[in-house]
Amino acid sequence: MAGEPQADCLFCKIVAGEVPATVVRESQTTVAFRDINPQAPTHVLVIPKAHYPDAASLAAAEPQLAVDLLLEAGEVAAEENIVADDAGPGTGYRVVFNTGSGAGQTVFHAHAHVLGGRGFNWPPG
Ligand code: 5GP
Repeated sequence: MAGEPQADCLFCKIVAGEVPATVVRESQTTVAFRDINPQAPTHVLVIPKAHYPDAASLAAAEPQLAVDLLLEAGEVAAEENIVADDAGPGTGYRVVFNTGSGAGQTVFHAHAHVLGGRGFNWPPG
């Protein structure tokens, strides 16, 4: 059934507490934890507790949960002090949903990468 935990899913195991993670925020519907292989000084993953393979399927099935995820991403950015201000380069943050293996998705449980604390290039690599 859509949204149900999947036995072979790493992030479902993190939600269940079966795999350890450095959790920075938790809500009724989401968990935010530090990426094990950070690509920036702040690199936090925000995931729905429910299992959906990617952000688009999450949004299609449970639009409010997708909104919850984005709001939590914003809260993480605020807590990590990476929200843009007038301090110049290195402020502001990036929220990334890699979707599909060709775009770099390696874990097929929807997640937002919240990256900040350094400058970013555009277009992304
Ligand atoms: P994706 O490549 O699917 O967009 O992102 C998956 C992310 O999960 C990667 O950035 C990777 O470093 C992270 N990751 C993979 N395994 C673990 C783990 O066991 N714990 C944590 N905290 N992050 C993980």
